[in-house]
Amino acid sequence: MSDIQKSESRVENYDLIVIGAGPAGLAAAIYAARSGLKSIILERGVPGGQVQMSPWIENYPGFPRIEGIELMSRMAEHARQYVEIREGTEVLDITQLEDGFLLKTRDGELSARGVILATGASHRTLGVPGEREYAGRGVSYCATCDGFFFRGKKVLVVGGGNTAVTDALYLQSIGCDVTLVHRRDALRADMHLQKTATEKGLSLLLSSVLEKVIGNDETVTAAEVKSAVTGEISRIEVNGVFIAVGTVPNAKLAKSLGVETDEGNFVIVGQDHRTNIPFVYAAGDLSGGILQVVAAVHGGAVAAISAFEDLSDPYFARTRSETR
Ligand code: NAP
Repeated sequence: MSDIQKSESRVENYDLIVIGAGPAGLAAAIYAARSGLKSIILERGVPGGQVQMSPWIENYPGFPRIEGIELMSRMAEHARQYVEIREGTEVLDITQLEDGFLLKTRDGELSARGVILATGASHRTLGVPGEREYAGRGVSYCATCDGFFFRGKKVLVVGGGNTAVTDALYLQSIGCDVTLVHRRDALRADMHLQKTATEKGLSLLLSSVLEKVIGNDETVTAAEVKSAVTGEISRIEVNGVFIAVGTVPNAKLAKSLGVETDEGNFVIVGQDHRTNIPFVYAAGDLSGGILQVVAAVHGGAVAAISAFEDLSDPYFARTRSETR
């Protein structure tokens, strides 16, 4: 009797478990379920991933401009037509069995013959004094979630990438007095966003580094910014600081399974989204590359097709080594 059969009475059994309900996990589950694999998505929070924190998405084909939360709500609704998305269900541990995987959650155990890791990434912190102390009290990592509280107030947005510029434009559009602080003399955001920032007169403080967040007992009142050119430190009176300095992959589960990661902790996958562990696949921000919704959706779909090939062994299955 197999390990999974032995524990059958206690565990829910699936062909495939998708961990994470961001764009990669949702796309993976749609493809997996439609291919006939008995699948489920386990999501520690609510579906949507980091995208739902994005004020607007303007580069997902078919949606010239859509709120991140709306796009993800549509994707989740679509996925629910095929699979259960079990919300608030964090996978605490994965163990490899002889013939599959055992996943522990607070509500019980589930087993599967294959696992797609789509655990995404989390916002990076700066680690400057005051950042942690005032997190949620003036320091924020989510403009769409918290921007409302800063209407008519002065805020800094830190970072030079797509998130920082999108967040800054969003905050400006809802009536915040925004200054974008970036450590270099040029932004790295897409040209389209940079052009919009110029057109909208977004205030930029380039070659400047946030040194310290200052506040009183309740909230943020100021920030210290150091010039990367002169080293001079200036104090700016602000009510809020939005930090958008990139992401770090949520790779803990992957690593606990022995999945290979690169120096940035992104899971290494082949073009087929297989990892080094048979029957374990990864997609979305967790597996790096260009961190875009369209790429996450692609990766999820490919991972699910690879899982289908490995688990169902259809006549057209390719060999594992062919695409790595
Ligand atoms: P990102 O592209 O990695 O940019 C992070 C920014 O933070 C960079 O400008 C970086 O500076 C700066 N930074 C990093 N560490 C810092 C530090 N310690 N101190 C000061 N500044 C620091 O991150 P992102 O903007 O969050 O985007 C993440 C991914 O999502 C990207 O692939 C992005 O294209 C994608 N994304 C896409 C869209 C879209 O297409 N609409 C929207 C949002 C995000 P340097 O420039 O000096 O490295």
